[in-house]
Amino acid sequence: MCGIVGYVGYRKAYPIIISGLKRLEYRGYDSAGVALYDGKIKIYKKKGKVSELEKLTKDKDTEGTIGMGHTRWATHGAPSDENSHPHVSNSGNFSIIHNGIIENYSTLKKELLGRGYTFNSATDTEVLVNFIEDIYENNEIDATEAVRIALNNVIGAYGIVVMCKAEPEKLIVARRSSPIAIGVGEGEFIIASDATPIVEHTKDVVYLNDNEIAVITKEGYKVLNLKNESQTPYIHTIEMELEALEKGGYDHFMLKEIFEQPRSIADSIRGRIDPENKKVWLGGLVDVRKELAQAKRFIFVACGTSWHAGLVGEYLFEEHIRIPVEVEYASEFRYRNPVIQEGDIVIAISQSGETADTLAAINLAKERGALVLGICNVVGSSISRATHAGVYTHAGPEIGVASTKAFTAQVSVLTMMALFIADLKGKLTPKSRSIIPEMLQVPEKVRHIVNQSDKIKEIAATFKDSPNCLYLGRGSNFPVALEGALKLKEISYIHAEGYPAAEMKHGPIALIDENMPVIFIATKDESYEKIVSNIEEVAARKGRVVAIVTEGDTAVRNIAEFVIEIPEIDPSLMPLLSVIPLQILSYHIAVMRNCNVDQPRNLAKSVTVE
Ligand code: GLU
Repeated sequence: MCGIVGYVGYRKAYPIIISGLKRLEYRGYDSAGVALYDGKIKIYKKKGKVSELEKLTKDKDTEGTIGMGHTRWATHGAPSDENSHPHVSNSGNFSIIHNGIIENYSTLKKELLGRGYTFNSATDTEVLVNFIEDIYENNEIDATEAVRIALNNVIGAYGIVVMCKAEPEKLIVARRSSPIAIGVGEGEFIIASDATPIVEHTKDVVYLNDNEIAVITKEGYKVLNLKNESQTPYIHTIEMELEALEKGGYDHFMLKEIFEQPRSIADSIRGRIDPENKKVWLGGLVDVRKELAQAKRFIFVACGTSWHAGLVGEYLFEEHIRIPVEVEYASEFRYRNPVIQEGDIVIAISQSGETADTLAAINLAKERGALVLGICNVVGSSISRATHAGVYTHAGPEIGVASTKAFTAQVSVLTMMALFIADLKGKLTPKSRSIIPEMLQVPEKVRHIVNQSDKIKEIAATFKDSPNCLYLGRGSNFPVALEGALKLKEISYIHAEGYPAAEMKHGPIALIDENMPVIFIATKDESYEKIVSNIEEVAARKGRVVAIVTEGDTAVRNIAEFVIEIPEIDPSLMPLLSVIPLQILSYHIAVMRNCNVDQPRNLAKSVTVE
């Protein structure tokens, strides 16, 4: 998820690694560290920015022509010096840096504890490095073979670099679902989690494929797969400018993050779903299982986009758990003398985990005796510490101010929570249970939608100069309408409103004329026929209808000016798909209006003031 830089060659590694880590700072991170080899392995690591690491190493020995550096974006264990990478195995023979998540780390950790291993951090990464050591110690094999065997037994995502004291002239790197690029220079190699740290040294880059391992010395490198078969690497020549590279080739972080959603949703459900037994497992809620099983009501507190995720959560909890839910703006909740009763559970939702109003609402709920859970993206954030338990969304750092992938990750987590709690309460119906394996199809279906970006761009061109826009949806597509309107407002400064479609005739219908774009989310569900009637009502008043419909829809196609087709899925998973075209539409309109998409005026990424 975060940053990796490695160096093998003839130059001093440290400055190359540090400047590479700085190139990766745009990705967001919470701590940094390096390992360097010249006769012995030296490790320095520190919570905070790369500049903190530089302060730490100021008067220290940073010699060595082999090394690796990491910026960590915590997923397991709060940001701290101990949890920072590199991690070292018990004997000191292996060091590792790691991007991603080892899903089966707790099973591996139990085994290793049984064999006498000890751990200095809360990370999944430290488990992996000791697992490698354990395999190495118990077999007559070299370090590469130990890494290969270990990775064959690991579930999850990783980009790793491993150093072995007994074989110090090499770096062993590997990837699965977390990118690793190897810059091939003259007598030197620069390894990185994306090409940005490499381009200033060489334009020749090998991108490792999933399940490949590369062994790199200053003489050369070889690539093999997890079956130990040698692979022929393909050397790409990078032609992109540095700024474009940081954004992964996209024009803006927001677009990159929209396109990242197949992966970020997969990351947020990774390891939490058992499709065979149709079970959800949320490790962060295990300690409060009893309270959840006895819960009588849930209260979601959040702000902005997270509040919209909470509204989707209301539909999900009511449907799957059959329990009352209230969704509150954190700022209103805290000043309203809220009624908290026995059996109430408060769930706070925040991307950054630092939102001031949400934090204040949490403290108030705690004072009144409620159990408070958190849904945050940033591990170790204030909200994750202030709550009794919670679930991380694992969407990865979100840089664009207007939230996209954090929203879909929050909705993914709320869906899993609803199913997990319903199961705890013995209320999970076979119909609800069937959604559990279906969740695994969401990433692919999202990919199918983002690939329609060019088509949505044409629609954006038609409406880019509209002063107003109305978004309408029913059921759990109503909060999606709100979120669509918010996205457009935030980044294009067009006035937009979201409404439940049936409410239109109680007011907003007065606004409709031939200049008014009306975006309907009209996917197939129980209220489909009703929303088709609403579309007719708008069309009869010459409103300009854009409809998000399920693939194969014919009824709406005949009435709407534009339709965007999205794949079929169970209606309770639909918000995860139906929000995507709205994000894309807002993005293109904002770009066409020359707005600063990634940093819209007056807005901040993390709202730490009341
Ligand atoms: N899961 C690892 C940790 O929490 C790596 C996180 C990252 O990708 O930076 O330390």
